Amino acid sequence: MILRDFHVHSTYCDGRCELEEIINTAIEKGVKTLGIVSHCYTPFHVYGRLTPDSVYEFSKELNALKARYSDKIELLVGVEEDYFGETDLSKFDYVIGDVHYIKGPSKYHSIDYVYPEFKALVEDVGGGVNAYKIYYEQLVKLVKEKNPHIVGHFDIISKNNNDNEFFDEESEDYIATWKKAIDEILAFNKDIYFEVNTGGIARKYKDRPYPRKEMVEYIKSKNGKLLLTSDAHHKDNLCFEFEKWKKEFDL
Ligand SMILES: [Zn+2]
Ligand SMILES: [Zn+2]
Repeated sequence: MILRDFHVHSTYCDGRCELEEIINTAIEKGVKTLGIVSHCYTPFHVYGRLTPDSVYEFSKELNALKARYSDKIELLVGVEEDYFGETDLSKFDYVIGDVHYIKGPSKYHSIDYVYPEFKALVEDVGGGVNAYKIYYEQLVKLVKEKNPHIVGHFDIISKNNNDNEFFDEESEDYIATWKKAIDEILAFNKDIYFEVNTGGIARKYKDRPYPRKEMVEYIKSKNGKLLLTSDAHHKDNLCFEFEKWKKEFDL
């Protein structure tokens, strides 16, 4: 399998390895194309060392390394742009669009951080059904407003919903809601990629990627494009379980 990974974080945001450590590990692993991203800055929550300027400092340094390593690996400079991000997207080779936050009546809540924060989100928006409806609506809006190349971790809203604690992932309404989101995203841009993100497995939150199998099957049935990504925050997790999920999901 030709290894390509388009979703890797460095110490410019909340990753644990420096850019060159990641690049050298990727070269050792035989990765052909490596896209490193930074989270975007949002005023109400800051990932790692992020400041309003650090995404651009990141892009400047990675662009310099791109030239230096060009005979060994293809490097791409990306940004993980949030619904509430205000990044100048023209400064990046590609954009992963994803929803990490929901604005509740009382404050902005993180969707994919720790359990107590997700619980507070659900209470603030009036239940789990409202939470997923807001999430999928906001994801579709993000795609329409920012036109990213990749839809990031579709169904991350399920991260803290183990044992269907906050909403029933098998319910007709949940299934209809995510199907509608996929339909609307593909109606807007049939060439967009949905990532199959193995980061939750590496970090032991889930035993399957985002999105889950039924969603992957649905995207395929609509001729949507899929792309394995690791969302690695450490160099050891580059291309995490790509062989396994390529086979499992027949990608
Ligand atoms: Zn993310
Ligand atoms: Zn990420």
